[in-house]
Amino acid sequence: MKENLSHILTSLGENREEYYNAVSPAIAQTSNFSFNTVAEMRRALQDEFGTPFYTRGFNPTVNILREKLAALEGCEDALVCGSGSAAVSTAVMGFLKAGDHVICVQKPYSWTYKLLNGMLRRFGVETTFIDGSEIQNFEAALQNNTRMVFIESPNSMTFEMQDIRAVAAFAKRNNLISLIDNSYASPLFQQPHLMGIDLVVHSATKFLNGHSDVVAGAICGSKTHIQQLFANDWMTLGPSISPNDAWLIIRGLRTLELRANRSAETAEKIVPILENHPNVEKVYWPFSTSNPQEKLAKSQMSRCSGMFSLAIKADDALGVERFCDNLNHFLLACSWGGYESLAFPVCGLAQSISYTNSPVPWNLVRMYVGIEDSDLLLQDLLQALDKV
Ligand SMILES: *Cc1c(COP(=O)(O)O)cnc(C)c1O
Repeated sequence: MKENLSHILTSLGENREEYYNAVSPAIAQTSNFSFNTVAEMRRALQDEFGTPFYTRGFNPTVNILREKLAALEGCEDALVCGSGSAAVSTAVMGFLKAGDHVICVQKPYSWTYKLLNGMLRRFGVETTFIDGSEIQNFEAALQNNTRMVFIESPNSMTFEMQDIRAVAAFAKRNNLISLIDNSYASPLFQQPHLMGIDLVVHSATKFLNGHSDVVAGAICGSKTHIQQLFANDWMTLGPSISPNDAWLIIRGLRTLELRANRSAETAEKIVPILENHPNVEKVYWPFSTSNPQEKLAKSQMSRCSGMFSLAIKADDALGVERFCDNLNHFLLACSWGGYESLAFPVCGLAQSISYTNSPVPWNLVRMYVGIEDSDLLLQDLLQALDKV
């Protein structure tokens, strides 16, 4: 990491002397900025990307966050969006036109799948979904009109991974824009831009904010790519985040290192115990010793996040539901990356997250361990597993 992690999380971008040396940054909760003269106004309008003119384009509070997120990913610049899905769709659409072709991994985040398989097909962009575990599959999907490769490593239900360095090299060789959804690992544990990927997108709703109180997203990349994205479509699409939400993420980032490591530590302790439990068929977790991709995982992630999936050994979906319904501490909710532990059952919810070519197992429950006491979480899981 180019800049020191603590410096990024506690100081970078926060020009305290500009506001009474306040330790916590002020929130520029304003939609617009005023000028003394027409000449000043004209100058500002020429650079909406870098000048306070209108908050859809630039806002000083959001800018603090842009600097921090870019530095965390080892990138030159970043854009912050009002949701992770806005970050994905803005980054994808900004580089495509009708007639282009995209290569995407087969189980990306569900709304990413819908963007590529639904909306963009309506606008004449075709996508081939591939098993991303073998680099040959990327080569085989290549067409004359391929423009972009989209990966998600690990993905967020069964945690398949792609060889990030190999995909980046493939993209460079073939002159493609490469994008990765890096929400699962967080920039703390994986920095794909430093492995050659052009653009890194995040659901900042998850680890980056970490308090389950904001929906947000980020796009990180080179100055050239980020400026190009802004110039092409940013002001048209208007995916901007509110300054107040940006401030909450700045506050959440203060503890990113503590939260993400605590959650990872709990997973490291709990996963091996669950793997040996008679009512667990399989645990999906990138760093699991039984994962055939463990070596790849460890070659590109410095540590593994505290999210894993359990395939429950049950006779039917009701057994899986009994496990979920008997959890006392884990909340039944979607999302993850906050302070609180969550369970997200696929059974009964499968319709919204199934893929025609690659279904997610029916007995899968995605678990996220938060920052609570690991013994409390383990005991809760064990007593609920007894009720399957
Ligand atoms: C949640 C999520 C998204 C979408 O982010 P939102 O902030 O909910 O819009 C995208 N990708 C992954 C991997 C996610 O988990």
